[in-house]
Amino acid sequence: MKLTDHARRHKEVRNLIGGEWQKREDLPTEPVYDPATAEVIAQTPLSKKEDVERAVRAAEEAFSGWSSTPVVERARILFRLKMLMEENFDELSSLVTLENGKDKKDASGEVRRAIEVVEFACGMPTLLMGETVRDVARGIDNLSFRYPLGVVAAITPFNFPCMVPMWTIPIAIGAGNTYILKPSERTPLCSQRIGELLFEAGLPEGVFNIVNGAKEVVDAILTHPGIKAISFVGSQPVAEYVYREGCAHGKRVQALAGAKNSMIVLPDAVLEKAVPNIISSAYGNAGERCLAGSVLVAVGKEEEQDRLIGAVKEAASKMKVGPGYEEGSELTPLIRDSHREKVRSYVDLAEQEGAEVVLDGRVPPREEGFFFGPTILDRVTAKMRVAREEIFGPVLSVVRVPDLDEAIEFTNGSAFGNACSIFTESGAAVRRWRERIEAGMLGVNIGVAAPMAFMPFNGIKKSFYGDLHATGKDGVRFFTENKVEIVRWLS
Ligand code: NAD
Repeated sequence: MKLTDHARRHKEVRNLIGGEWQKREDLPTEPVYDPATAEVIAQTPLSKKEDVERAVRAAEEAFSGWSSTPVVERARILFRLKMLMEENFDELSSLVTLENGKDKKDASGEVRRAIEVVEFACGMPTLLMGETVRDVARGIDNLSFRYPLGVVAAITPFNFPCMVPMWTIPIAIGAGNTYILKPSERTPLCSQRIGELLFEAGLPEGVFNIVNGAKEVVDAILTHPGIKAISFVGSQPVAEYVYREGCAHGKRVQALAGAKNSMIVLPDAVLEKAVPNIISSAYGNAGERCLAGSVLVAVGKEEEQDRLIGAVKEAASKMKVGPGYEEGSELTPLIRDSHREKVRSYVDLAEQEGAEVVLDGRVPPREEGFFFGPTILDRVTAKMRVAREEIFGPVLSVVRVPDLDEAIEFTNGSAFGNACSIFTESGAAVRRWRERIEAGMLGVNIGVAAPMAFMPFNGIKKSFYGDLHATGKDGVRFFTENKVEIVRWLS
């Protein structure tokens, strides 16, 4: 099946500033590809510092009206947004598939997750409640109130073009902030459609703005004195840079970064149920997920490990490679040819370092597009770079260990701490693992440990920079500050 007309309609990428879709012919552009065909489908304008300047001015102007709009009225706009996203569900998920490449099931799952954040933020009147204690001394009460920060910004990656922007948009604006989004220059189309839907839902001009572009826009956001908080999601080196520079310029920053997640499989795991989970964690979204299980830690005796690896190999080699918009496609393309080169070079490196390539995806399984076949690297050791660095492709490294203690020790040797999964039927083993494992999102017999919108997206170690995570109550606290009042009435 081909993409809907709606998706194709979004070819022109514009900035949204002060309620106006602005077109600037003078800007350089970055091509946006359909990763399944390598066809150029749009051009992202690479905006300048002055575009950020204009967006901050528009957001500042909108702030006093928006922040003083009663929270129930702000929530009503979010309720309308939720309905509009449901009505336009197919269009949004088609856009995700078109610009990112992922299959229809993953794209629908992504849009559903995005809507769940809106649903969570619809409870903003409750989420913004402060605390009170009466009579802390005779006749004196203590109260706290939550206030929005002002103009806030978000910088987002290519791999979830709908869900990641929506991790913060409903919460930040629901709490009364005004907002500037800098989407990935590789996937700008969903954000544009979200902007249209926000205005259809009744959001006043200037509350939500989009500045497209790359590093120049990010740097202007990091240094602009009018921006109070920045939410970043992307690769680890850029996250570290954004956190450092943003903090140095006096901003509140949360920076969600890269990952290298282990899936630990104990000998008592129910293999026929575990294997489909392992496959979808390692290869879903072409491995371009921060929650992807990219290391399989096979625990037990050699023959137990062989049985697991054999089953994973059999399932991986049967995956149907194809475009996300074709029914039945299971392994979809990578985002760019340059990224495919990087993934290939990691497989070459693993081979040089002594890993066994038991399933080799280096020869592109399709001529057109940016496809890479399912790959398994066996006998990977902790010293190899493929065991430690994020590859972000359909490459599963297998580490063989004799027992759970070694599995935990291997996993904790990683600089990252996003997620970890364990496959077992032993409650005692799960408890031992949970108490010692250094990862912020844990899956028990679940390969993609994704928290719901009312929980924090909880990476630790080098997978996260900051104090308050995205979504859940952390998300609300990140985009608000408190005033504490001590009251005594004298008459
Ligand atoms: P990226 O770091 O290349 O880009 C992210 C954003 O930063 C983009 O908007 C980009 O324009 C900007 N950017 C890129 N290079 C920059 C630079 N040198 N200076 C300033 N800004 C720059 O990341 P990506 O390739 O788009 O996304 C994939 C990465 O995101 C992976 O590492 C993945 O693990 C991570 N990710 C993490 C989470 C999480 O929750 N921890 C979620 C999704 C993705």
